[in-house]
Amino acid sequence: MSSLEEPRQRATALRQQLHEHNYRYYVLDDPMVSDAEYDQLMRELRAIEAAFPDLITPDSPTQRVGGAAASQFAKVQHRIPMLSLANALNDEELYAWRERTLRLLGADATLAYVVEPKIDGLAVMLRYQDGQLVLGATRGDGEVGEDVTANLRTVRSIPLLLRPLDGTALPRALEVRGEVYMRLPDFEALNEHFAATGQRLAANPRNAAAGSLRQKDPTITGARPLRFFAYAVAEVDANGTTLDSQWHTLEYLKAFGFPVNRDARRFTDFSAVVGYAREWMSRRESLDYEVDGLVIKVDDVRQQNELGVVGRDPRWAIAFKFPPREGITRLLAITVNVGRTGVLTPNAELEPIVLGGVTVQNASLHNADYISERDIRIGDYVTVKRAGDVIPQVVGPVVSRRTGDEQTYQFPAHCPECATALERIDGEAAWRCSNLSNCPAQLVRRVEHFVSRGAMDIVGMGERQAILFVEAGLIKDVADLYTLTAADLSGREGFGPKRIENLLTAIEATKQRPVERLLYGLGIRYVGSVAAQLLAQHFGSLDALMAASREELEGVAGIGPIAAASIIEFFGREENRQLIEKLRAAGVNMTGTPTRPVQDGPLSGKTFVLTGTLPTLSREEAAALIQAHGGKVTASVTKKTSYVVAGDSPGSKLAKAQSLGVPVIGEAELWGLVER
Ligand code: NAD
Repeated sequence: MSSLEEPRQRATALRQQLHEHNYRYYVLDDPMVSDAEYDQLMRELRAIEAAFPDLITPDSPTQRVGGAAASQFAKVQHRIPMLSLANALNDEELYAWRERTLRLLGADATLAYVVEPKIDGLAVMLRYQDGQLVLGATRGDGEVGEDVTANLRTVRSIPLLLRPLDGTALPRALEVRGEVYMRLPDFEALNEHFAATGQRLAANPRNAAAGSLRQKDPTITGARPLRFFAYAVAEVDANGTTLDSQWHTLEYLKAFGFPVNRDARRFTDFSAVVGYAREWMSRRESLDYEVDGLVIKVDDVRQQNELGVVGRDPRWAIAFKFPPREGITRLLAITVNVGRTGVLTPNAELEPIVLGGVTVQNASLHNADYISERDIRIGDYVTVKRAGDVIPQVVGPVVSRRTGDEQTYQFPAHCPECATALERIDGEAAWRCSNLSNCPAQLVRRVEHFVSRGAMDIVGMGERQAILFVEAGLIKDVADLYTLTAADLSGREGFGPKRIENLLTAIEATKQRPVERLLYGLGIRYVGSVAAQLLAQHFGSLDALMAASREELEGVAGIGPIAAASIIEFFGREENRQLIEKLRAAGVNMTGTPTRPVQDGPLSGKTFVLTGTLPTLSREEAAALIQAHGGKVTASVTKKTSYVVAGDSPGSKLAKAQSLGVPVIGEAELWGLVER
């Protein structure tokens, strides 16, 4: 075999695979592999072509963008090709790009850069004639796109008629480019709807946006929550306006009412560009739309023209790609965990996959309905998503990769730990093991929760010890922790005399914890640490709380009907009342001082919801700070919420706030409000 034969064969094989993936991604909006896998194949092909330039073919995916236009749409020949972007994955690759530009422009060239979030949607062009939208098309293969004018007209953030906001002259002809995308809460709601109506799920917001835009029937597109950001002007007959820089272009687009991303920045110092890119790695979590990287563009249009284009990528811009948070891997098995309230949560065991720099082997499957509605089968390739520190989620199966050997999952009818028949909780998707007093798995989880930091905070106790004590029959409820003796523990693995003494002292010390910690530690459904604090402040003692009616509970600011019902149910159970008596007999504190809410303060009349970990304040401290200044803290976000205070790894409350338009602030802004 000649020395070229092997790379030639490999290049041909890679091209075939990439063509197939392009078709599935761009034409069917239904990819089979993750973007990271696709990028890896592309990088390999590029490397072969760089080493053996004779092997480059004009139809190589390295030379052309995207996929061919689908036949259901009329074709649009782009007057100016719609390009792709070269990628940089780390700082070195960014600096290498800067070096290349300086080599071409001359080492003494002064450059400015515009940095914009890289919105994960699909590129479109919009042509305006005398201020009217006359044509809208997808990128297609970069040369020929699809005419989706009627569909784009239904996207509400795209102006149909240009009206200059500040006296800027109306151009006769204008071609704008930008990204059509879908916000995360809208994507999730759409997938819920697809699941409930038995339709194929979209793997991610990008595919959902592309699939929604490329509909034959524009009324379907019109019903989908699509949005638009403009970022380029390809052509302008501008009545004397020249767009001499990218920054100027963005200003120009804004002047006509196009939505322009507010996080675009201009820098003259490249290290500031790199710094901004780093800052964005975590910032992306706080957005309600997907950003898969940043685009860094040379600002000056003359310099852009000088740099030109290579293959399908302009030399004057580069995409700094963030580590992928989403991937495709195999679902090996489904296990079921029994929680402390008896609720069963299915868990996906996955072939390990690296997402956002972390190896993921487990992901949430939420509940039985989630699995059946999405038809997730054991052995399926599934899309897995990990955002921030939130537990990774299985989004759905990649149906095109099924071999026929996958197995439909049967949710168990009995508790896997104690064999009790499962019950469906009224009005909820969850199944529950009703053996609340004797299921060992529930007891372990309850003990774990009781001793955890936000609750009684018993140093030296955690999951391992909880399992050990439950399995050894030393504890049958959390109150038994207070009757543990040195004799019970001695001789057990890991329990030397010093360790035993420390643990017993730590347990003893928790008898004096504030009542809200005990209340939280009991693990009542829907009573988190904030709700526990609100209840303790209102009632002043566990006895007063236990005597409260449902109406009284609902009257406590921040306690909703669901939490109230759950509290009533909890204390209505004989075994829970007995547990309280056992704790009382052990000498555990059950009273506090009811506090009157502060009537007048800078936060009076405002309600707050807390989510995530704040930089310096604990949840309890933040709640106390708000209340001390007249504000109210509630447990769930509604339209009436004044602010959501979000820290690291926020929960679903953040997305809820964003979808309702409730302002989201951080700890620093909270301090600002208090000190006003
Ligand atoms: P790209 O997405 O890497 O970058 C170019 C695109 O960025 C532009 O076309 C534009 O749509 C977008 N963009 C967003 N914000 C922008 C801004 N502010 N300024 C300029 N452009 C902006 O390139 P591509 O050619 O569209 O797609 C290639 C990528 O798609 C691959 O890297 C891969 O991740 C993915 N892909 C995946 C599969 C698969 O099977 N999984 C198949 C094909 C492509």
